[in-house]
Amino acid sequence: MPSLHWFRRDLRLADNPALLAAVEEARVADDEVVPLFVVDPALWRAAGAPRLAYLARSLRALDEALDGRLVVRHGAASSVLPAVAREVGAPSVHVTAATEPYGRRRDEAVERALDVPLVRTGSPYAVAPGRLTTQAGTPFQVFTPFRGAWLDHGWSVPARRPQRVPWADVPSDGVPDEPGTDVDLPAAGERAAHARWAAYVQDGLAEYGTLRNRPDLDGTSMLSIPLKYGELHPRTLLADLTQAPFDTATFRSELAWREFHADVLWHHPCAARRSLRAVVPEDSWDDGDASFAAWAEGRTGYPFVDAGMRQLRALGWMHNRVRMVVASFLVKDLHVRWQRGAQHFMDWLVDGDVPQNQLNWQWVAGTGRDAAPYFRVFNPVTQGERFDPDGAYVREWVPELRGIPGRAVHQPWRLGLEAPEDYPAPIVDHAVERKVALDDFHRGRDA
Ligand SMILES: Cc1cc2nc3c(=O)[nH]c(=O)nc-3n(C[C@H](O)[C@H](O)[C@H](O)COP(=O)(O)OP(=O)(O)OC[C@H]3O[C@@H](n4cnc5c(N)ncnc54)[C@H](O)[C@@H]3O)c2cc1C
Repeated sequence: MPSLHWFRRDLRLADNPALLAAVEEARVADDEVVPLFVVDPALWRAAGAPRLAYLARSLRALDEALDGRLVVRHGAASSVLPAVAREVGAPSVHVTAATEPYGRRRDEAVERALDVPLVRTGSPYAVAPGRLTTQAGTPFQVFTPFRGAWLDHGWSVPARRPQRVPWADVPSDGVPDEPGTDVDLPAAGERAAHARWAAYVQDGLAEYGTLRNRPDLDGTSMLSIPLKYGELHPRTLLADLTQAPFDTATFRSELAWREFHADVLWHHPCAARRSLRAVVPEDSWDDGDASFAAWAEGRTGYPFVDAGMRQLRALGWMHNRVRMVVASFLVKDLHVRWQRGAQHFMDWLVDGDVPQNQLNWQWVAGTGRDAAPYFRVFNPVTQGERFDPDGAYVREWVPELRGIPGRAVHQPWRLGLEAPEDYPAPIVDHAVERKVALDDFHRGRDA
């Protein structure tokens, strides 16, 4: 009997224990492996064009690595999986476990619809969400003790890449066409991801601790995209970190944040939509469209914010420091609910990922587990001056401001008559809105 591996967020051959389990099952049966990907029209319609375009490219790369044998089928997973399992006569369906709310629900539905077992092996994380608890047996609420338990628990070594696999020749609908997008996407696929990581280990990782907060310098790995699609597994990165001849604890700690957010969402699936705690009264929010549109289009008049929002539209990616600043600006200067900003990010980010996106938004909004306190309001000017000290990042993404040298670019309104006419004045006064946010916070606390 051929074995069946259903690819989802594990679009790779190396270090993929679920795929290895399918290959082993086929070896024992002396049969072939069917590599399947399901295009669910409901999901396909819901995702932003940058993510879909990247996914289509990643699937093409996977198909190539599978000697053109990737089987793509369209339809709801709970219909497609039983049909394919029957068609090929598979004794089980192998998957990497889904851990976020949608994937868990979908897999439960598939499991009910199948008449063979759904075999889950591994997860997209080094330590599966839900595995770690405090000594009292409760979920972790705070990052630092979580990271300690995560390090103590450890993870297995990367799984070997299966060799000479007899991929089955089964009819496929073909990889879907990618939607049009103006976003400048990075190279997709497992091979490109490994090349990116190898180059970063060689040229960037040693400086990560000092440069990671500088959006004007190419100081971070940009691996959030391959990690999101499972073109690389974090276990592979963690194994390589131990080989580096310099300190890699800061980079490892960022991977731990990724695991912490997945763990929080595992225990609190509602966090994908709702604040884990309310911090301001409901009447604090502005549900209008004008300021939201200015933020989304990068026209707030705050150069550091606008540079980030335009980088997002150009690359489908934004530097982490700037993500924090633009998110804080939306929630605390414009008083817009974090959920609207999170949805905009999901529409544009190529690495848009429910656990990381929603929980980071909740962190900035002060509503999450171990979140930044609500009264911490990022100052969009001083953040720019500190992390983009010469203004190069702003000038790269906001062409109207290219004529302003140095850090003066962070406050064009100070230039008086010399300020560029085609760049907007600030849509709000940060000092005033910060006070409004703090007053809202105090009202919420006293209520
Ligand atoms: C409002 C907001 C929304 C975000 N939305 C997403 C999202 O949808 N998808 C996503 O992958 N990340 C998200 N992040 C986290 C972070 O900004 C990105 O992971 C990071 O910018 C990716 O760039 P990089 O790979 O160069 O990171 P690096 O600095 O090179 O970090 C290495 C890896 O560590 C992980 N990491 C780093 N910072 C964080 C963090 N704050 N939280 C969780 N993991 C982290 C990522 O997997 C990243 O690839 C968000 C952050 C904020 C503040």
